[in-house]
Amino acid sequence: MDYKDLANLIFPDAKDISYYEEKYPERNLPEGAVVTRYAPSPTGFVHIGSLFQVLVSSMMAKKTGGVNFLRIEDTDQKREVEGAIVSVINSLKDFGIEFDEGMVNEEEGKGNYGPYKQSQRKEIYEAYAKYLIAQGKAYPCFASPEELEELRAKQEAAKLRTGYYGVWAKYRNLSVEEAVEKIKNGEQYVIRLKSPGNEEKKIKHKDVIKGNVEFPENDQDIIIIKGDGLPTYHFAHAVDDHLMRTTLVVRGEEWFSSVPTHLQLFYVLGFKPPKYAHIPTIMKMDGESKRKLSKRKDAEAAVDYYTEEGIPKESVLEYLLNIANSNFEIWRKQNPDKNISEFDFQINKMGVSGALFDMVKMLDVSKNVISRMSAEDIYNKVNEWAQNYDNELFEMLKDKEYSLKVFGIERGNSKPRKDISKWSEVKDNILYMYNDKFDKNAEYEYGKISDKKEIDKIVKLYIEKYFDINDDKQTWFDKMKDLAEELGYAREVKMFKTEPDKWPGHVGDISTVIRVSLTGRQNTPDLYEIMQVLGKDTVVERLS
Ligand code: GLU
Repeated sequence: MDYKDLANLIFPDAKDISYYEEKYPERNLPEGAVVTRYAPSPTGFVHIGSLFQVLVSSMMAKKTGGVNFLRIEDTDQKREVEGAIVSVINSLKDFGIEFDEGMVNEEEGKGNYGPYKQSQRKEIYEAYAKYLIAQGKAYPCFASPEELEELRAKQEAAKLRTGYYGVWAKYRNLSVEEAVEKIKNGEQYVIRLKSPGNEEKKIKHKDVIKGNVEFPENDQDIIIIKGDGLPTYHFAHAVDDHLMRTTLVVRGEEWFSSVPTHLQLFYVLGFKPPKYAHIPTIMKMDGESKRKLSKRKDAEAAVDYYTEEGIPKESVLEYLLNIANSNFEIWRKQNPDKNISEFDFQINKMGVSGALFDMVKMLDVSKNVISRMSAEDIYNKVNEWAQNYDNELFEMLKDKEYSLKVFGIERGNSKPRKDISKWSEVKDNILYMYNDKFDKNAEYEYGKISDKKEIDKIVKLYIEKYFDINDDKQTWFDKMKDLAEELGYAREVKMFKTEPDKWPGHVGDISTVIRVSLTGRQNTPDLYEIMQVLGKDTVVERLS
């Protein structure tokens, strides 16, 4: 009996690997095109770090005319969640990310390199495991959990590296006859790689992001097929990324230390390894120290949070690019009107360690992104968001023509307003522009001038003598100064500053009175524009 007999006993129906090698040929792509992928397990949850990763891989595929596909890694069946694939697809679609190939719903995929869900690829893994067993490069291991526990205890007591390797790998050198007998007796087993590695030797490797590194060779006889017949992540990664002809693996840095194992698997299987780009983990400051953005503790770890809060996808992507390439900020300053897809993203210029995520900075970026949008664009986006998340706002926006004017205040000029960072802020921000939402009887916080009689006097005189909706901005402003002067206030702020004792206040304090009476707030965008949009009747009504 030889290894082939053992292989046939374990996987009697598995095909010869030549079948798959022919079925999934090298891709015919332009020179330099990369094939990359996103390979989540189907939990349905998309972490902001995953979006970061997908953004990087999709930009690399686009930039080079390559392919970016979606593969679902469901070999750990405990972690499965109903409807998870569609939910991942939709969450990413919210950010404009769509895959060229891969799963399109829970069961089906598109593209010539499928199936794109690992549980549908069982026979493929079996073929490659059989291929290794037949050459004596993999073997059935019958170690029970108790045996493994005992092994570990011995290694720990002797202060040795733990694991299943070398002389500790008890079933590594079992004869074919012994193995066959155990299998025939119905003993449980997994399939392990017979690692050709030597811990003492080093391998040199170059990560696309992390640069040159040296690792000790892998010498662990890792499991490739588990007791349930499904492959481990390691084995599936090698088989899938080979057959799907991936050339660039972009994945989280938690996999970085597995590189020696993976390179060894590619070598043993006779595959050309892909390039690896390990993406730094997204961290946040927690007091004085950094920690991972956590799914449990941090709402902002989930990409759906941004959608729900109404932080535009453009802002999120722009912020992530800021983290990814430090020269992005300069590029944005020089090219304020360009789309981010025009930025020449450089994967090898990414930071090497934990990227720091800062919500304040993200909202700041968002204010700038929104300030560059047209009133029409904002209207459409707010309207869409409100339809899903804020009924009252959705109703307010029904008068499109009027709402466009509201959003047009201080916009479309060279210094557009920057007071909106997310759509969930909009309602509060524009409420006073809608007559039925404006509470005329509320007690407002006035500024420096808070005496009721004085306020009455100012407002009255303004309506009677100075207010004319047809004034242009300069005239309107001059009249505000005249009003201040007539009431005994300084007509220029500068005048007041040089001799503050001479007046009870200045033109700014006077216009604050008008502003608060009209809007209920001390800070608003340009008051002249607000009055123009409110219209004569509303202005008079509110001031009266
Ligand atoms: N399923 C693995 C994960 O979710 C994929 C890692 C990879 O991209 O290869 O971490």
